[in-house]
Amino acid sequence: MTAKLIKGTEIREQILEEITTEVAQIKAKHGVVPGLVTILVGANPASISYVTLKIQTAHRVGFHEVQDNQDATISEEDLLALIDKYNKDDSINGILVQLPLPKHVDEKKVLNAIDPDKDVDGFHPVNVGRLMIGGKEVKFPPCTPAGIQEMIVRAGVETKGAEVVVVGRSNIVGKPIANMMVQKGKGANSTVTIVHTGTKDLAAHCKRADILIVAAGVPGLVKPEWIKPGACVIDVGVNRVGETVSEKTGKKVAVLRGDVDFDAAKEIAGYITPVPGGVGPMTITMLMLNTLKSLKFKLGIA
Ligand code: NAP
Repeated sequence: MTAKLIKGTEIREQILEEITTEVAQIKAKHGVVPGLVTILVGANPASISYVTLKIQTAHRVGFHEVQDNQDATISEEDLLALIDKYNKDDSINGILVQLPLPKHVDEKKVLNAIDPDKDVDGFHPVNVGRLMIGGKEVKFPPCTPAGIQEMIVRAGVETKGAEVVVVGRSNIVGKPIANMMVQKGKGANSTVTIVHTGTKDLAAHCKRADILIVAAGVPGLVKPEWIKPGACVIDVGVNRVGETVSEKTGKKVAVLRGDVDFDAAKEIAGYITPVPGGVGPMTITMLMLNTLKSLKFKLGIA
């Protein structure tokens, strides 16, 4: 069996097109576009490249975007005041604080200062609670789990009654995706198991998964013999396993591998996400969708 590839790169393009169309319609009818501010503190190269990608994507879909770069020496008090300014700014629907923050700043305090109705990352405790309650309470599902669920839905995989096994229990991937898949509703209604380093028999759990979501950060953790024939395998892991020279640019680039032995797994699974090009491109895409949703909630059209 050769699994159907679920390509995040393709789904991203579809969703960004849909967002662009909707933004233009809202602009024509209501005279406003979604506003997104990205706050970058300091000059961490990885943070700069993430922020740049977010800004480019926001620009592409027609958002009003504000790039607010602050010196690494900014005080916690001044950063909190900055957040407060954007909380009160009517033209801003989404506030992003790029992590990590400098050591002298309490990250939790800063993230918790964001108005939950502008917390498009979905990490504020209020939004975590809303996600737990489910249904209409949910405003901003966290972006990577939201991307995973969207991929499963768009691939046409049945989730109702499916055995879903999630490998990993982080607050950004494992716990929220497990919580989302167990809710009563579209793209969910599954029977969910979360496994982790305390689990007695990881293989036994994985083997009965109709949908296997792996977010452990361990290259090749999931062996092909752990995969149920025909299962949908979502590999969230992004692991740097070496370096190579890009044929296109001639520059050194990282070799990335997922948490699943892809080449062997694709012969057993029914659906599988590649790494790179699978879940990765979905995160920023869902961030754009959450920002659009934030404006729609404000306009009462969500
Ligand atoms: P994390 O916070 O390190 O959590 C990893 C989880 O996996 C933990 O719950 C850990 O269990 C579990 N785990 C680790 N080794 C295991 C093993 N041998 N057996 C069973 N469980 C094991 O990681 P994360 O932030 O969720 O990220 C996971 C992976 O996804 C990483 O490779 C990351 O780069 C990637 N990721 C990708 C995206 C994206 O593509 N957009 C976004 C986020 C993350 P314990 O709790 O017991 O320690």
